[in-house]
Amino acid sequence: MIDGRQVSAEVRERVAGEVADFIAAGGHQPVLATVLVGDDPASHVYVANKHKACEAAGIGSVHHELPADTSQQDLVTLVKALGDDDEVDGILVQLPPPDHIDADAVIAAIDPTKDVDGLTATNAGLLAGGRPGLVPCTPAGVIELLDHAGTEIEGAEAVIVGRSNLVGRPLISLLLGRNATVTAAHSRTRDLPGVCSRADILIAAVGVPGLLGAEHVKPGATVIDVGINRTDDGLKGDVDFEAAAEVAGAITPVPGGVGPMTIALLMVNTLAAAKARAK
Ligand code: NDP
Repeated sequence: MIDGRQVSAEVRERVAGEVADFIAAGGHQPVLATVLVGDDPASHVYVANKHKACEAAGIGSVHHELPADTSQQDLVTLVKALGDDDEVDGILVQLPPPDHIDADAVIAAIDPTKDVDGLTATNAGLLAGGRPGLVPCTPAGVIELLDHAGTEIEGAEAVIVGRSNLVGRPLISLLLGRNATVTAAHSRTRDLPGVCSRADILIAAVGVPGLLGAEHVKPGATVIDVGINRTDDGLKGDVDFEAAAEVAGAITPVPGGVGPMTIALLMVNTLAAAKARAK
Protein backbone atom coordinates (compact mmCIF):
# COMPACT_ATOMS: atom_id res chain seq x y z
CA MET A 1 0.00 0.00 0.00
CA ILE A 2 1.32 3.41 -0.95
CA ASP A 3 0.90 5.68 2.08
CA GLY A 4 0.04 9.15 0.77
CA ARG A 5 -0.02 10.67 4.24
CA GLN A 6 3.57 9.62 4.87
CA VAL A 7 4.81 10.76 1.45
CA SER A 8 2.96 14.07 1.86
CA ALA A 9 4.60 14.63 5.26
CA GLU A 10 8.02 13.90 3.74
CA VAL A 11 7.46 16.34 0.87
CA ARG A 12 6.24 19.07 3.23
CA GLU A 13 9.26 18.55 5.49
CA ARG A 14 11.54 18.79 2.46
CA VAL A 15 9.85 22.05 1.40
CA ALA A 16 10.21 23.48 4.93
CA GLY A 17 13.96 22.84 4.71
CA GLU A 18 14.16 24.41 1.26
CA VAL A 19 12.19 27.49 2.40
CA ALA A 20 14.61 27.94 5.31
CA ASP A 21 17.59 27.59 2.94
CA PHE A 22 16.07 30.08 0.48
CA ILE A 23 15.54 32.66 3.24
CA ALA A 24 19.00 32.01 4.75
CA ALA A 25 20.50 32.69 1.31
CA GLY A 26 18.86 36.14 1.27
CA GLY A 27 15.52 35.25 -0.30
CA HIS A 28 12.17 36.58 0.91
CA GLN A 29 9.58 34.54 2.79
CA PRO A 30 7.26 33.01 0.14
CA VAL A 31 3.65 34.10 0.51
CA LEU A 32 0.51 32.29 -0.67
CA ALA A 33 -2.73 34.28 -1.10
CA THR A 34 -5.96 32.29 -0.96
CA VAL A 35 -9.34 33.54 -2.13
CA LEU A 36 -12.61 31.95 -1.04
CA VAL A 37 -16.04 33.06 -2.23
CA GLY A 38 -19.15 31.96 -0.33
CA ASP A 39 -19.71 29.68 2.65
CA ASP A 40 -19.30 26.12 1.39
CA PRO A 41 -18.17 24.26 4.55
CA ALA A 42 -15.88 21.83 2.68
CA SER A 43 -14.11 24.71 0.90
CA HIS A 44 -13.52 26.42 4.25
CA VAL A 45 -11.90 23.26 5.61
CA TYR A 46 -9.69 22.91 2.49
CA VAL A 47 -8.50 26.52 2.73
CA ALA A 48 -7.86 26.27 6.49
CA ASN A 49 -5.74 23.14 5.87
CA LYS A 50 -3.74 24.97 3.21
CA HIS A 51 -2.96 27.77 5.67
CA LYS A 52 -1.89 25.26 8.32
CA ALA A 53 0.43 23.59 5.80
CA CYS A 54 1.91 26.98 4.88
CA GLU A 55 2.62 27.77 8.49
CA ALA A 56 4.34 24.43 9.05
CA ALA A 57 6.49 24.96 5.95
CA GLY A 58 7.51 28.50 6.93
CA ILE A 59 5.45 29.98 4.08
CA GLY A 60 3.46 33.13 4.79
CA SER A 61 -0.21 33.27 3.85
CA VAL A 62 -2.95 35.82 3.45
CA HIS A 63 -6.61 35.01 3.06
CA HIS A 64 -9.39 36.87 1.28
CA GLU A 65 -12.92 35.76 2.12
CA LEU A 66 -15.70 37.18 -0.01
CA PRO A 67 -19.48 36.88 0.43
CA ALA A 68 -21.42 34.40 -1.75
CA ASP A 69 -23.03 37.22 -3.75
CA THR A 70 -19.68 38.73 -4.83
CA SER A 71 -19.81 39.65 -8.51
CA GLN A 72 -17.52 37.98 -11.03
CA GLN A 73 -16.06 41.40 -11.84
CA ASP A 74 -15.16 42.09 -8.19
CA LEU A 75 -13.51 38.67 -7.90
CA VAL A 76 -11.54 39.21 -11.11
CA THR A 77 -10.46 42.65 -9.85
CA LEU A 78 -9.16 41.11 -6.60
CA VAL A 79 -7.31 38.32 -8.42
CA LYS A 80 -5.64 40.86 -10.74
CA ALA A 81 -4.67 43.05 -7.76
CA LEU A 82 -3.00 40.02 -6.13
CA GLY A 83 -1.12 39.52 -9.39
CA ASP A 84 0.19 43.09 -9.11
CA ASP A 85 1.00 42.77 -5.40
CA ASP A 86 4.74 42.34 -5.02
CA GLU A 87 4.32 40.70 -1.60
CA VAL A 88 2.35 37.77 -3.05
CA ASP A 89 4.08 34.79 -4.72
CA GLY A 90 1.17 32.39 -5.18
CA ILE A 91 -2.54 32.87 -5.84
CA LEU A 92 -5.06 30.14 -5.11
CA VAL A 93 -8.74 30.68 -5.81
CA GLN A 94 -10.66 27.91 -4.06
CA LEU A 95 -12.88 26.19 -6.65
CA PRO A 96 -15.68 25.77 -7.44
CA PRO A 97 -16.97 29.35 -7.12
CA PRO A 98 -20.71 30.01 -6.68
CA ASP A 99 -22.82 29.24 -9.77
CA HIS A 100 -23.08 32.83 -11.02
CA ILE A 101 -19.28 33.04 -11.44
CA ASP A 102 -17.49 31.58 -14.46
CA ALA A 103 -14.44 29.77 -13.07
CA ASP A 104 -12.60 30.02 -16.41
CA ALA A 105 -12.86 33.82 -16.37
CA VAL A 106 -11.39 33.91 -12.87
CA ILE A 107 -8.58 31.50 -13.75
CA ALA A 108 -7.75 33.64 -16.80
CA ALA A 109 -7.20 36.61 -14.46
CA ILE A 110 -4.48 34.82 -12.45
CA ASP A 111 -0.91 35.96 -13.15
CA PRO A 112 0.65 32.77 -14.65
CA THR A 113 3.86 33.29 -12.63
CA LYS A 114 1.74 33.05 -9.43
CA ASP A 115 -0.61 30.30 -10.68
CA VAL A 116 0.28 27.71 -8.01
CA ASP A 117 -2.67 25.51 -9.05
CA GLY A 118 -1.23 25.35 -12.58
CA LEU A 119 -4.64 26.02 -14.11
CA THR A 120 -4.02 28.98 -16.44
CA ALA A 121 -3.84 28.42 -20.19
CA THR A 122 -0.20 29.58 -20.05
CA ASN A 123 0.86 26.87 -17.61
CA ALA A 124 -1.32 24.22 -19.29
CA GLY A 125 0.34 25.12 -22.60
CA LEU A 126 3.84 25.00 -21.14
CA LEU A 127 3.13 21.56 -19.67
CA ALA A 128 1.63 20.27 -22.93
CA GLY A 129 4.71 21.55 -24.74
CA GLY A 130 7.07 19.83 -22.32
CA ARG A 131 8.42 23.14 -21.02
CA PRO A 132 8.92 24.22 -17.40
CA GLY A 133 6.02 25.93 -15.64
CA LEU A 134 3.74 25.53 -12.64
CA VAL A 135 2.16 22.05 -12.74
CA PRO A 136 -1.29 21.27 -11.25
CA CYS A 137 -0.85 19.92 -7.72
CA THR A 138 -2.84 16.67 -7.85
CA PRO A 139 -1.19 15.28 -11.02
CA ALA A 140 2.24 16.33 -9.72
CA GLY A 141 1.38 14.50 -6.48
CA VAL A 142 0.61 11.34 -8.47
CA ILE A 143 4.11 11.43 -9.98
CA GLU A 144 5.64 11.86 -6.50
CA LEU A 145 3.72 8.79 -5.33
CA LEU A 146 4.92 6.71 -8.28
CA ASP A 147 8.51 7.75 -7.61
CA HIS A 148 8.12 7.00 -3.92
CA ALA A 149 6.71 3.54 -4.71
CA GLY A 150 9.77 2.85 -6.87
CA THR A 151 7.60 2.32 -9.95
CA GLU A 152 9.64 2.68 -13.11
CA ILE A 153 7.89 5.22 -15.36
CA GLU A 154 10.26 5.23 -18.34
CA GLY A 155 9.06 2.78 -20.96
CA ALA A 156 6.06 1.69 -18.87
CA GLU A 157 2.54 1.32 -20.28
CA ALA A 158 0.54 3.96 -18.41
CA VAL A 159 -3.25 4.14 -18.69
CA ILE A 160 -5.10 7.14 -17.27
CA VAL A 161 -8.86 6.81 -16.97
CA GLY A 162 -10.26 10.36 -17.13
CA ARG A 163 -9.21 13.32 -19.28
CA SER A 164 -10.18 16.40 -17.24
CA ASN A 165 -8.12 19.58 -17.41
CA LEU A 166 -7.54 19.30 -13.67
CA VAL A 167 -6.17 15.75 -13.50
CA GLY A 168 -6.22 13.53 -16.61
CA ARG A 169 -4.74 15.86 -19.23
CA PRO A 170 -1.85 17.15 -17.10
CA LEU A 171 -1.02 13.53 -16.23
CA ILE A 172 -0.81 12.63 -19.92
CA SER A 173 1.88 15.30 -20.36
CA LEU A 174 3.73 14.50 -17.13
CA LEU A 175 3.92 10.78 -17.93
CA LEU A 176 4.94 11.43 -21.54
CA GLY A 177 7.62 13.76 -20.18
CA ARG A 178 8.92 10.83 -18.14
CA ASN A 179 8.93 8.61 -21.26
CA ALA A 180 5.96 6.37 -20.44
CA THR A 181 3.78 5.02 -23.23
CA VAL A 182 0.53 6.79 -22.40
CA THR A 183 -3.08 5.87 -23.12
CA ALA A 184 -5.93 8.18 -22.09
CA ALA A 185 -9.22 6.34 -21.52
CA HIS A 186 -12.56 8.07 -20.98
CA SER A 187 -16.32 7.56 -21.08
CA ARG A 188 -16.32 6.60 -24.78
CA THR A 189 -13.51 4.07 -24.50
CA ARG A 190 -14.55 0.66 -25.82
CA ASP A 191 -13.46 -2.29 -23.72
CA LEU A 192 -12.21 -0.39 -20.65
CA PRO A 193 -11.07 -3.61 -18.89
CA GLY A 194 -9.04 -4.60 -21.97
CA VAL A 195 -7.31 -1.19 -22.17
CA CYS A 196 -6.67 -0.92 -18.42
CA SER A 197 -5.35 -4.43 -17.99
CA ARG A 198 -2.43 -3.61 -20.33
CA ALA A 199 -1.20 -0.99 -17.87
CA ASP A 200 1.93 -1.22 -15.77
CA ILE A 201 0.70 2.05 -14.24
CA LEU A 202 -3.07 2.47 -13.93
CA ILE A 203 -4.43 5.83 -12.81
CA ALA A 204 -8.12 6.39 -12.11
CA ALA A 205 -9.44 9.97 -12.15
CA VAL A 206 -13.09 9.45 -12.96
CA GLY A 207 -15.48 10.25 -10.13
CA VAL A 208 -17.39 6.93 -10.20
CA PRO A 209 -16.98 4.92 -6.97
CA GLY A 210 -15.49 1.47 -7.46
CA LEU A 211 -15.53 1.67 -11.29
CA LEU A 212 -12.27 -0.26 -11.67
CA GLY A 213 -12.01 -3.78 -10.24
CA ALA A 214 -9.65 -6.74 -10.41
CA GLU A 215 -10.42 -7.32 -14.11
CA HIS A 216 -8.94 -3.88 -14.91
CA VAL A 217 -5.61 -4.52 -13.19
CA LYS A 218 -2.60 -6.27 -14.70
CA PRO A 219 -0.92 -8.49 -12.10
CA GLY A 220 1.82 -6.50 -10.38
CA ALA A 221 0.70 -3.12 -11.72
CA THR A 222 0.89 0.11 -9.71
CA VAL A 223 -2.61 1.51 -9.22
CA ILE A 224 -3.13 5.16 -8.30
CA ASP A 225 -6.67 6.13 -7.34
CA VAL A 226 -7.32 9.89 -7.63
CA GLY A 227 -11.08 9.52 -7.14
CA ILE A 228 -12.73 11.00 -4.06
CA ASN A 229 -16.41 10.10 -3.94
CA ARG A 230 -18.73 10.74 -1.02
CA THR A 231 -21.00 7.69 -0.61
CA ASP A 232 -23.32 6.41 2.12
CA ASP A 233 -20.40 4.19 3.19
CA GLY A 234 -18.01 7.15 3.49
CA LEU A 235 -15.27 8.32 1.10
CA LYS A 236 -14.61 5.90 -1.76
CA GLY A 237 -12.16 5.94 -4.62
CA ASP A 238 -12.74 5.07 -8.26
CA VAL A 239 -11.06 1.70 -7.65
CA ASP A 240 -12.59 -1.20 -5.75
CA PHE A 241 -9.65 -1.32 -3.35
CA GLU A 242 -10.13 -4.82 -1.90
CA ALA A 243 -10.54 -6.44 -5.32
CA ALA A 244 -7.75 -4.50 -7.06
CA ALA A 245 -5.30 -4.95 -4.16
CA GLU A 246 -5.43 -8.73 -4.73
CA VAL A 247 -3.87 -8.25 -8.17
CA ALA A 248 -1.88 -4.99 -7.97
CA GLY A 249 1.78 -4.75 -7.01
CA ALA A 250 1.22 -1.40 -5.27
CA ILE A 251 -1.95 0.60 -4.72
CA THR A 252 -3.10 3.83 -3.07
CA PRO A 253 -5.97 3.79 -0.57
CA VAL A 254 -8.82 6.32 -0.42
CA PRO A 255 -8.63 8.25 1.82
CA GLY A 256 -4.92 8.54 2.56
CA GLY A 257 -3.51 8.15 -0.94
CA VAL A 258 -3.49 10.95 -3.52
CA GLY A 259 -5.61 13.33 -1.39
CA PRO A 260 -2.87 14.39 1.05
CA MET A 261 -0.40 14.93 -1.82
CA THR A 262 -2.28 17.87 -3.33
CA ILE A 263 -1.55 20.16 -0.41
CA ALA A 264 2.12 19.11 -0.30
CA LEU A 265 2.57 19.98 -3.97
CA LEU A 266 0.88 23.34 -3.34
CA MET A 267 3.75 24.09 -0.95
CA VAL A 268 6.25 22.94 -3.59
CA ASN A 269 4.66 25.24 -6.19
CA THR A 270 4.50 28.25 -3.87
CA LEU A 271 8.22 27.96 -3.12
CA ALA A 272 8.98 27.45 -6.83
CA ALA A 273 6.96 30.58 -7.72
CA ALA A 274 8.77 32.61 -5.04
CA LYS A 275 12.18 31.45 -6.31
CA ALA A 276 11.28 32.19 -9.94
CA ARG A 277 10.02 35.68 -9.00
CA ALA A 278 13.17 36.34 -6.96
CA LYS A 279 15.23 35.77 -10.10
P1 NDP B 1 -14.23 15.16 -14.25
O1 NDP B 1 -15.67 14.89 -13.99
O2 NDP B 1 -13.83 16.51 -14.72
O3 NDP B 1 -13.71 14.09 -15.33
C1 NDP B 1 -14.06 12.75 -15.24
C2 NDP B 1 -13.44 11.97 -16.38
O4 NDP B 1 -13.81 10.62 -16.22
C3 NDP B 1 -13.90 12.42 -17.76
O5 NDP B 1 -12.81 12.47 -18.65
C4 NDP B 1 -14.90 11.32 -18.16
O6 NDP B 1 -14.92 11.03 -19.55
C5 NDP B 1 -14.35 10.11 -17.45
N1 NDP B 1 -15.40 9.14 -17.17
C6 NDP B 1 -16.61 9.36 -16.58
N2 NDP B 1 -17.30 8.19 -16.48
C7 NDP B 1 -16.52 7.23 -17.04
C8 NDP B 1 -16.68 5.85 -17.23
N3 NDP B 1 -17.78 5.20 -16.85
N4 NDP B 1 -15.68 5.17 -17.83
C9 NDP B 1 -14.54 5.81 -18.22
N5 NDP B 1 -14.33 7.13 -18.05
C10 NDP B 1 -15.31 7.84 -17.46
O7 NDP B 1 -13.48 14.75 -12.92
P2 NDP B 1 -12.06 15.23 -12.27
O8 NDP B 1 -10.93 14.84 -13.13
O9 NDP B 1 -12.18 16.63 -11.81
O10 NDP B 1 -12.06 14.32 -10.96
C11 NDP B 1 -12.03 12.92 -11.04
C12 NDP B 1 -12.04 12.34 -9.64
O11 NDP B 1 -10.87 12.77 -8.95
C13 NDP B 1 -13.22 12.81 -8.78
O12 NDP B 1 -13.61 11.76 -7.93
C14 NDP B 1 -12.62 13.94 -7.96
O13 NDP B 1 -13.29 14.12 -6.72
C15 NDP B 1 -11.23 13.44 -7.75
N6 NDP B 1 -10.24 14.49 -7.51
C16 NDP B 1 -9.38 14.31 -6.45
C17 NDP B 1 -8.41 15.24 -6.17
C18 NDP B 1 -7.47 14.98 -5.04
O14 NDP B 1 -6.94 15.88 -4.47
N7 NDP B 1 -7.20 13.72 -4.71
C19 NDP B 1 -8.29 16.48 -6.93
C20 NDP B 1 -9.18 16.54 -8.09
C21 NDP B 1 -10.12 15.58 -8.33
P3 NDP B 1 -15.40 12.09 -20.69
O15 NDP B 1 -14.26 13.07 -20.83
O16 NDP B 1 -15.57 11.25 -21.88
O17 NDP B 1 -16.65 12.72 -20.15
